[in-house]
Amino acid sequence: MNIDIQIAEARRIQPAMDEVQFGSHVSDHMFLAEYEAGRGWHSPRVQPYGQFQLDPRALVLHYGQSVFEGLKAYRQADGGIALFRPESNAARLNASCQRMAMPALPGALFIEGLKRLIALEDAWVPATQGAALYARPIMFACEPVLGVRRSASYQFCIMLCPVPPYFQPGDPPLKLLAREDCARTAQGGCGDAKTSANYGQTIVALEGARAAGYDNLLWLDAAEHRYIEEVGITNVFVRYGDKVVTPPLSGRILPGITRDSVIRLLRSQGEQVDEREIAIEALLAGIDGGQVLEIFLTGTATIVAPVKEIGFRGRRHPFVPAPDSMATRLYRQLTAIQHGTAVDEFGWMLRIPA
Ligand SMILES: *Cc1c(COP(=O)(O)O)cnc(C)c1O
Repeated sequence: MNIDIQIAEARRIQPAMDEVQFGSHVSDHMFLAEYEAGRGWHSPRVQPYGQFQLDPRALVLHYGQSVFEGLKAYRQADGGIALFRPESNAARLNASCQRMAMPALPGALFIEGLKRLIALEDAWVPATQGAALYARPIMFACEPVLGVRRSASYQFCIMLCPVPPYFQPGDPPLKLLAREDCARTAQGGCGDAKTSANYGQTIVALEGARAAGYDNLLWLDAAEHRYIEEVGITNVFVRYGDKVVTPPLSGRILPGITRDSVIRLLRSQGEQVDEREIAIEALLAGIDGGQVLEIFLTGTATIVAPVKEIGFRGRRHPFVPAPDSMATRLYRQLTAIQHGTAVDEFGWMLRIPA
């Protein structure tokens, strides 16, 4: 694949990891490609990080035809760099595109773009355990026209942000609020697509939860406000005695790659993982009665993080996560695979050639 590379004249000074927030800093270059109806994807290139020029009629600004991905490049024990499951992100990007009437991006373009960009930004990949270089691919509709229809042109871009560990074992577990007056997505909507509209509409509800003293939202289904679905923008697992349960991919849930990795890791260790509906009432009864041993979230940014309280209908349901929790064990196992200090038995890591 012919990818043009234009090197930035000046490199930015890199921040110390403790000054960095999620996405507050970006590396020196970005990857771009454009799509034109009739021509397809063209002009793949790496160039200095900079701004887009958009016509005010660009369709994305009006009707939200926009999708994104998120994945991390990790510093390896031997000094190299590797990406965690990028083919899964490429496939999910295309599933999101299909849902949003956007053109598929060839997987090879996604992977080659990432490889070339990250190889150039080697110095931006943090060495600290748990820290990473977060890649954020985005695609959006650019055609200047106001009709609600497929756009004739799209922009694809990958940017890279150094990120500290979002959550580490020992950090305080999270408090979640389940609300019946809002929903993340409904059946027949686009909850299983990583598309912008699913996120902007949650900010008001999230601010409400934070004002009430909670860290995040425990989303319930939109039809009955009865079954748990996700936490903020992460997937959720519940551990009872000898089994782990997570809501099934109903079409309303984002198919997290960390979710899939955790399920596969647990099953390979002989744990029973069930994908089934979890009613909030039963979950709270299980917490109050001591049958629920832990609840944890999974996502690329968070990796795995434990929960210590759920609020619902004005009542708090606290519980004490076990100190030798499954969440901590999974966090350590996943980060060890990601940093190349444990055997990659699933073939999840993709090396970036120097
Ligand atoms: C991205 C995302 C997740 C987590 O997916 P990963 O692939 O594990 O990062 C979960 N829920 C929502 C709504 C998301 O957007």
